[in-house]
Amino acid sequence: MNTVDYLLQDENDLHIQAKLDEIIERNRRYTKDGAVATYIPGLRKANRDDLGICIVDKNKRIFTSGVCDKKFTIQSISKVVLLSMALMEHGFDYVHTKVGFEPSDNPFNSIVTIGNNDVKKPSNPMINSGAIAITSLIKGDTYEEKEANMMAYFKKFTANNDLKINYNVYMSERSTGDRNRAMAYLLKSHGFLDGNVDEILDLYFKQCSIEVDVKDLAMIGLNLADQEFINDRGCVISKDVARIVRTVMFLCGMYDGSGEFALKTGLPSKSGVGGGIMTCVSDAVGIGVFGPSLDERGNSVAGMKVLEDLSREFDLSAI
Ligand code: GLU
Repeated sequence: MNTVDYLLQDENDLHIQAKLDEIIERNRRYTKDGAVATYIPGLRKANRDDLGICIVDKNKRIFTSGVCDKKFTIQSISKVVLLSMALMEHGFDYVHTKVGFEPSDNPFNSIVTIGNNDVKKPSNPMINSGAIAITSLIKGDTYEEKEANMMAYFKKFTANNDLKINYNVYMSERSTGDRNRAMAYLLKSHGFLDGNVDEILDLYFKQCSIEVDVKDLAMIGLNLADQEFINDRGCVISKDVARIVRTVMFLCGMYDGSGEFALKTGLPSKSGVGGGIMTCVSDAVGIGVFGPSLDERGNSVAGMKVLEDLSREFDLSAI
């Protein structure tokens, strides 16, 4: 029996739960090695010691361990949902005219690629500049319609109709987002943004400020992992789009630490500065982790350790 099949067997529930509890306990000490994000005032209130995980499989079983009922903002994990939406609505070739699909060893908020006259396209959709370009592709005749379309997509992806924007964090994002503003205007000057820059930025700040818990993240992961699950619910994304998005996550999902993380876990993942990491194991399992103590790149320190252990102990590596 392969390991994903093992994860899916009901009779192994107790063993899986015990292993998860053990992995969370073992890695809790790493929360001391990082710090919560402070560059956005609304994120400062997080508790550095929190650590939790949720696993959802295609048989609709749910495992949780640690701190699982806390809400936190999705931050950069939203970039995965927006990329999926853009690929579904515009197709790969058009999306590729706006962003590259190459890993970057610059930080998430780097302005380097678009600031440079030789390389004008953002390197990929997982860094801020790329995500802002992708946000300009949201369909709708008015700002309100675009926001409604965006939120509907997040609700479908998480199967959670109660998703809301945290207005405190959103206001914080807006008041500290000058670097993102600079990027957006540069993108516009190079022809990579369609539409009104202020509206696009506002939608970007809002998408980062959507409140989720680890189960919501695990559900996003399951959408990317399991085609049958997607089809059952009216095809949120196609098999090909899921494949492209998983590949982008693998190459670029953990900021400028993506290569090292891929090497250690073999899991396509996306992190956010709210402390979340979303992961999937094709074609069966979605995983959400929460640990707001971050390393200098913006990745959850203990969250990454948890995923390393999980991948090793259940042999989940995609390659
Ligand atoms: N809202 C964040 C920003 O644009 C996203 C950061 C992240 O999670 O990488 O600065």
